[in-house]
Amino acid sequence: MNFADLGLAEPILRAVREQGYETPTPIQQQAIPMVLTGGDLLAGAQTGTGKTAGFTLPMLHRLMGKPPAAGARRAVRALVMTPTRELAAQVEENIRAYGRHLPLNSTVMFGGVGMQPQINALRRGVDILVATPGRLLDIQQQGHLDLSKVEILVLDEADRMLDMGFIHDIKKVLALLPSSKQSLLFSATFSDDIKALADRLLKSPQLIEVARRNATADTVAQKVYWTGRERKKDLLAELIRRHDWHQVLVFTRMKHGANRLAEFLNKQDISAMAIHGNKSQGARTKALSEFKAGTLQVLVATDIAARGIDIDELPHVVNYELPNVPEDYVHRIGRTGRAGCEGEAVSLVCPDEELFLKDIEKLIKRSLPREVMAGFEVPSTERAEPIQIGRQTIGVRGPARSGGGGGARPPRDGHTPRRDGGRSPAHRGNSPKPAQGSGQGGARPQANAEGARAARPSSGGGGSGSGRPAALLGGPRRGGHKA
Ligand code: AMP
Repeated sequence: MNFADLGLAEPILRAVREQGYETPTPIQQQAIPMVLTGGDLLAGAQTGTGKTAGFTLPMLHRLMGKPPAAGARRAVRALVMTPTRELAAQVEENIRAYGRHLPLNSTVMFGGVGMQPQINALRRGVDILVATPGRLLDIQQQGHLDLSKVEILVLDEADRMLDMGFIHDIKKVLALLPSSKQSLLFSATFSDDIKALADRLLKSPQLIEVARRNATADTVAQKVYWTGRERKKDLLAELIRRHDWHQVLVFTRMKHGANRLAEFLNKQDISAMAIHGNKSQGARTKALSEFKAGTLQVLVATDIAARGIDIDELPHVVNYELPNVPEDYVHRIGRTGRAGCEGEAVSLVCPDEELFLKDIEKLIKRSLPREVMAGFEVPSTERAEPIQIGRQTIGVRGPARSGGGGGARPPRDGHTPRRDGGRSPAHRGNSPKPAQGSGQGGARPQANAEGARAARPSSGGGGSGSGRPAALLGGPRRGGHKA
């Protein structure tokens, strides 16, 4: 199948060709014809699957096919909401690229930068608006934004938006939109909250489920270095030097860990910058563009900050610390080995993280080869200790370290409340149980070897409830294995 078979107009096909894309990805093959029909869509897909073009291309086609009445004031006709600034900027960049031969214009609005240029852009007239919920509402409440003419709404990475506490903002925005519109909801996971949002927003949606990218990770070589807690930073510097790695994305669990590691690497003459929620937008954009340009060797990121970062053919991803949410491992290594390119994902794992590693191996259904590098072994005196994330203590069976108790909350990354990913009780050991947020890991679209499948909910009878695919909207699955 190629793009021309999908029913898209020639100026859009031309722009796609100019991007160098020949074959639509599985989600594009499924989503584009569905969105072109004008119906609502619920899609299980994460970054890296090509989902952005999956909704952008048919959205442009529909908007260009129905130009506003001559002389009418330009109004926002399509609204895309994303959880993060980076994702908003990337989506809008995509819209510009794919819409370059069309008389449609777009703008992006997010917090952390001046409001006035965004207001000015709205005044000049915008067809397609990409925004994070907070800034969108700020500007709307100041009377600069009319959303009453929106024809197409996209909620991108809806699960992250809910994780980040945007549900009230989303509801407020929905109340500002006309009831007759096309709504597209994209989410990598399907918790009860997402299902409730979908039920509220979508009318007889078509459903698409796409394999979690790299669920089988065929193009990513994954390796674990088993090492001591305090030896990781030297091991990382050694790996970078020894293999002459030049573009390495390194993940830490916490913001302060990201800062410390970037400082350490710089002292070792390895250029590094950290990006996370506490950094200004300017600092984040600078770090990202230098990293993309190849002038910055190492970008150290937390999971939230890295979410949506799109760097083609990123050769190396390092898990300096394993994520406590196993799904984040898949997100992380999804940054490399894209579009058939070879990639390498290296995890530096110390005994404290053994249970995280087991959870990850269960999720990806394979065990990861472990290596020990001479000089970086686990010291014979080192014992596994529980890991403290915010006020939560997790990671080791047996008595939890004192001080981690009482009203433990899900870990936070910057402003971002995180859930614990539905860690199974067997893995909680005696650690304090999170007071809230746990167990909402939610049903996640199941990996599917063919890449994508679609189903239309059966509208009548059938005796199968909603008729939705069980894997997409069925009973909750936790941590990648049946609870
Ligand atoms: P997304 O999932 O939208 O973040 O896209 C992931 C990456 O895939 C981006 O780098 C896109 O530019 C790229 N991409 C999107 N569609 C295609 C395609 N049909 N063929 C190759 N790469 C694509």
